[in-house]
Amino acid sequence: MLNIETFSLGPLETNAYLLTGAEEGKAVIIDPGMNPEPLIRRIENLEIEAILLTHAHFDHMGGVEEIRKLKGCPVYLHDLEKDWLGSPKLNGSLRWPSVCPPLATEPAEYDLAAGQKLNLIGLTFTVYHTPGHSPGSCSFLYENHLFSGDVLFRMGVGRTDLPGGREQDLLNSIQNTLFTFSDETIVYPGHGPKTTIGMEKQQNPYVY
Ligand SMILES: [Zn+2]
Ligand SMILES: [Zn+2]
Repeated sequence: MLNIETFSLGPLETNAYLLTGAEEGKAVIIDPGMNPEPLIRRIENLEIEAILLTHAHFDHMGGVEEIRKLKGCPVYLHDLEKDWLGSPKLNGSLRWPSVCPPLATEPAEYDLAAGQKLNLIGLTFTVYHTPGHSPGSCSFLYENHLFSGDVLFRMGVGRTDLPGGREQDLLNSIQNTLFTFSDETIVYPGHGPKTTIGMEKQQNPYVY
């Protein structure tokens, strides 16, 4: 049984997801963004088994440093972005000084790879490599729950004009990976409201 709580964090209203499951008192965080105070208050009495990053843009990793220090939990990130956590240039925090100070933290403890199974909080998550918005973008699937980062949004897709972004890769990731999941799959994106694969197949104007 997966329980999902959503926290909209920071100036870009990035969705952080707090997952709890079969093991009482244990949790996983996906994409702890900037200004993580509400999330930090919530996890006071939880053991964090892992921080999973869909990708290493500043608005998704802005809370990593603080939570990792507080909880001593490992971070998982695709190795194509292994230098990004320590580089304000690569994670984008240098580019919008009015939005964000330069951000840098230690590298991830573990690499993510396509097809990998992650056994966390008593559940098994499958990792999909879904590049395009960024080279190391990953999506995480548990049963019919999909965490899609900045690849697929409700009625939208991720931008491809940032370093390492590529429109054709993004469309391939959506068409050939995400759209192979059942229509009932619930999509929890990096920004904005949740949706389903079926709804996006029918209505998303950016996927063709
Ligand atoms: Zn992003
Ligand atoms: Zn984002």
